[in-house]
Amino acid sequence: MSSNDCIFCKIVAKQIPAYVVYENDHCIAFLDINPVSYGHCLVVPKQHVETFADATPEVISELFKCVQQVAIAICKATNAAGFNVVINSGEIAGQVIRHLHVHIVPRYDNDGLTIDKQPSTKLDEAKAKQLVEKLQHMLKS
Ligand code: 5GP
Ligand code: ZN
Repeated sequence: MSSNDCIFCKIVAKQIPAYVVYENDHCIAFLDINPVSYGHCLVVPKQHVETFADATPEVISELFKCVQQVAIAICKATNAAGFNVVINSGEIAGQVIRHLHVHIVPRYDNDGLTIDKQPSTKLDEAKAKQLVEKLQHMLKS
């Protein structure tokens, strides 16, 4: 399955160029065209799936095997001290390309990135209890 006007499907099909670092039958990993840090990579399922929520467990499983492999290699290749794994799912969350992709963002000392430093609040006990009950009910198999 592919989408004709999807840029990542075009990269998968080699119709447009990309700096591909790894691929297998299920996934492809390539450098982000506008990296936020040295080595910033995207890992993409070859199947066109719009969001994380739309993907099958099989697609997610293969995708994350690939994410782990690529992330370990990037750290070795760049001497990054660590990395962030980010999925923007849905427009509200900043997803621009509507083909599921995982960002691997290598981290360096004093790189100035703030991915991991968002303002937070204290957990509201009443709301937490209500939410946990609802979720436990929904997630019961
Ligand atoms: P999103 O905001 O959808 O999670 O991230 C999309 C990412 O794809 C951005 O970081 C952007 O720089 C990257 N990107 C968009 N178009 C291209 C492209 O044609 N080639 C590559 N390699 N990366 C792209
Ligand atoms: Zn696509």
